[in-house]
Amino acid sequence: MAGIYIHIPFCKQACHYCDFHFSTQMGKKETMINALSKEIPLRKSEFKDEIVETIYFGGGTPSVLEVSEIEKLVTAVYDNYRVIDKPEITLEANPDDLSEDKIASLSESPINRLSIGVQSFFEEDLKLMNRAHNANEAEQCIQQAKKHFQNISIDLIYGMPNMTNERWKQNIDKAISFQISHISSYALTVEPKTALANFVKKGLVKPVEDEVAQEHFHILNNTLTEAGYSCYEISNFGKPGYFSKNNSAYWQQKKYIGIGPSAHSFDGIRRGWNINNNPKYIKAITNGELPMEEEVLSKTDKYNEYIMTGLRTIWGVSLLKVVEEFGNKYKEYLLQQAEKHLERHLLYLDDDTLLTTKKGKFLADGIASDLFMLNLK
Ligand code: SF4
Repeated sequence: MAGIYIHIPFCKQACHYCDFHFSTQMGKKETMINALSKEIPLRKSEFKDEIVETIYFGGGTPSVLEVSEIEKLVTAVYDNYRVIDKPEITLEANPDDLSEDKIASLSESPINRLSIGVQSFFEEDLKLMNRAHNANEAEQCIQQAKKHFQNISIDLIYGMPNMTNERWKQNIDKAISFQISHISSYALTVEPKTALANFVKKGLVKPVEDEVAQEHFHILNNTLTEAGYSCYEISNFGKPGYFSKNNSAYWQQKKYIGIGPSAHSFDGIRRGWNINNNPKYIKAITNGELPMEEEVLSKTDKYNEYIMTGLRTIWGVSLLKVVEEFGNKYKEYLLQQAEKHLERHLLYLDDDTLLTTKKGKFLADGIASDLFMLNLK
């Protein structure tokens, strides 16, 4: 099974914290759609026996596309790849794009899952982030979306400056009250070269300390778990039957093709990434060339990726798989490095699977880096 990711590199305005690849110059949207629909067939030889299980429109802001443009891209996938019956087809969408009419026509298109970038239900947070929508639009679009879609995810951000534990809890409670089937939630990070980094440098915004973000994560995890969601990955919570198939595929090292500028791909051996420049991307594709760089993953790279993703998920790290894919030396090293985290109850062993405890979950990335193999190949 495999996935196709399509990157839509346009946004109406730049959110202060964002370092994804996008342009606010919408003038080239049509040319970009044509280039994306050309890249889809250009890449088809990369999937020989694979069957596409998920199609994911990410960005940027895919909801700036017309429904007809989305249909054109989905048709290009169906024309060039083998696709399972009833694939999961997700559209990332921002509340200010989701009018009642747009939601209704999306529900008649191949899109069967909406991932809505709510981020917060509070005006103050949305202004600080420079989101294009307001709190009222966030609530209204969820109410409308629920009339047409069963499979809805929303994004929420925690660890924001001035966000109290109470306000964060209210955000989560609001999401639960809408009976959303999936919630993705991330800690705000100050990325270099963003407006937020500039505000922090000038002393206009005080970044949140790690302890506060950690507290927010525990509130999130406890509240959502009590409400019947599973934290199947550190940033992803789903009701039974609603784990994102697309996200799960990434964490289970399945193959995917990334279409569009800055999109990443993985074929089980190589990791590739397209150029993150819209004009250069369009020019290359128009000439029939793939503007992609790639690297072959070493055994150590693959082991490190498996440790990183495994510890972030409920599937954990299988010692059996480590032996089978990497050898006994890796397993011995892993258990030796894991010892201090097992003693501190940040990790535990369930038969032959290494997992993070509730206490260790938020620290998964740091723990994983302790278990990485550095010198052995
Ligand atoms: S809408 Fe999403 S991709 Fe666009 S600037 Fe905001 S966070 Fe970044």
